[in-house]
Amino acid sequence: MKDQAANRQDELLEISSGKAEHVYYWHCGHYISPFFMGLRDKKTILGIRCSHCGRVYVPPREVCGRCFKTMHDWVDLGSEGSIYAFTVVKLPYIDPNTGKPIKVPRTDIYVKLDGADTCLMHWLDESDETKITVGARVRAVFKEQRRGTIHDIECFTQI
Ligand SMILES: [Zn+2]
Repeated sequence: MKDQAANRQDELLEISSGKAEHVYYWHCGHYISPFFMGLRDKKTILGIRCSHCGRVYVPPREVCGRCFKTMHDWVDLGSEGSIYAFTVVKLPYIDPNTGKPIKVPRTDIYVKLDGADTCLMHWLDESDETKITVGARVRAVFKEQRRGTIHDIECFTQI
């Protein structure tokens, strides 16, 4: 993965604010760009491992929060894991991508991907809290048309 990651650093993604009233752009940098390209190009979720303590972070970041060492060891985490925590949102708030209220109910989840030590926040396609349990196995559902953002994952679904 190291060589692939080095090649990926040649491409830095740029994200726009989408349909919000004031469109603006920002660069994703050397760690989030490969993460988004993994979603876009391979339908896989990339993490990064600290070579000092072994902790695997997703989303990837430059510096280990425990050791303060710069990390370079990319890890392909696939697309499956388990629910670490969840909440069913019933009060709509403004979606920063559209400027419109989100559709509720919507279930926000923390997913602990297999092989990761941290959690990724996303959504679950189930909003009946009686059908959701902490520890349940889940898999990422990828969109057909992907453009290199966190929204390339449509949601997670229980398996
Ligand atoms: Zn570390």
